[in-house]
Amino acid sequence: MGSNKNNIKKFLFKCGTEALSSATGKTIEDFYCPICGKGFSDNDLENKNLTLEHIPPEAQGGKGIALTCVVCNTTAGRTVDIAATTRNHLQGLSSLFSQEGRFNTRVRVDFGQENLGAVNYELSVKDGAVRFYPVKNANRPDYASNMKELIEQTNSTPKEDRSAWNISTRKRYNPWHAKVGDLRSAFLVCFAKFGYNFAFDPALETVRNQIQNYDARIIDYFFLSLDPKIEPNFTMGIVTSPFTAIFCQLQNFGIFLPWVGSPKDYYNYLEKYNKTNGKLNFTFTPIPWPERFEAQLDFMNCT
Ligand SMILES: [Zn+2]
Repeated sequence: MGSNKNNIKKFLFKCGTEALSSATGKTIEDFYCPICGKGFSDNDLENKNLTLEHIPPEAQGGKGIALTCVVCNTTAGRTVDIAATTRNHLQGLSSLFSQEGRFNTRVRVDFGQENLGAVNYELSVKDGAVRFYPVKNANRPDYASNMKELIEQTNSTPKEDRSAWNISTRKRYNPWHAKVGDLRSAFLVCFAKFGYNFAFDPALETVRNQIQNYDARIIDYFFLSLDPKIEPNFTMGIVTSPFTAIFCQLQNFGIFLPWVGSPKDYYNYLEKYNKTNGKLNFTFTPIPWPERFEAQLDFMNCT
């Protein structure tokens, strides 16, 4: 397991140096972090200064297809990734009522019984089935057996005679961090797909800056809440109208990134566009989500 991960990292180190060499026409031996732009030697790889980046984050089922430096991944990345994952879980609570979709999250359930306080549960919804698992060591010991009894009673009561349950959760997240988390995932998936010619393009500088300084509001209007009727998924594509851009769908949210031919100062343009036109209607041509580090723009010249 450990050595397998090391082999993947070694392979991605090699792919990264080859991609940047091809992009610049020079022999590059160091690996450059796509987010902060700092260079790292193979000694740094040995010393774990470079880390495997899961895209989307591992908690959302992503694959390790890029390397970033330990500062960009562990220090900064974790904060925004956790925020995005928590937000998705909380949004998933609504699927409890429609019994559609899948999610897991921790909730506090008040069953409206006088002799029974609220109970902490891991709640999972999968294929229309709702399951509760009591959280270990987070409940009074006698609650678990009382709860079991109550659930059994409920199951044998006709639906119309059941009393209401009240579900709340203690999970909290910073909505801005969650947005930056999505921006980060979108940027990294594009790095895996297109390589350094994309990541180090001057048009992406504000994006890299925003990802590193996740508390600051450097850019805005990169984020879109999608119509809930759209199937939550991970997809990407090139926006063809009303302007040129990259669009990444990350579950129920969308992120815009500048692309070749995007308007200059893209996010200022988007802000103005938004204020003048209101709701944004756009069309895009889907492109396959990368399964590995492809760096297609870097290698375009050498094939
Ligand atoms: Zn970095």
